[in-house]
Amino acid sequence: MFRDRGCDNCETYIKMRGHPDTVTDCTSSTFDGCVALFKPDASWVAKFSHINSFVPGVYAAHVTGRIPEYIEDKLAQRGFTYHPRDGSAED
Ligand SMILES: [Zn+2]
Repeated sequence: MFRDRGCDNCETYIKMRGHPDTVTDCTSSTFDGCVALFKPDASWVAKFSHINSFVPGVYAAHVTGRIPEYIEDKLAQRGFTYHPRDGSAED
């Protein structure tokens, strides 16, 4: 889906559509649990998980792996803070 359609949340910044290497770098098939997000701006869980500005959908709760540093830098340049879901940055 990411290869064909890109990401509904970050396609503007991270071009995944048509870039399989970027999809491989930025996604993981190893995760635990999921959060079904219906009303992002009204959900405490969404706020706690830093997904309250994301489009409605189903998101992994805990992910093995991180995005590469060059993607993290690209996001930081656009003013976005990366919140890893690998348990390394609990807050
Ligand atoms: Zn995305």
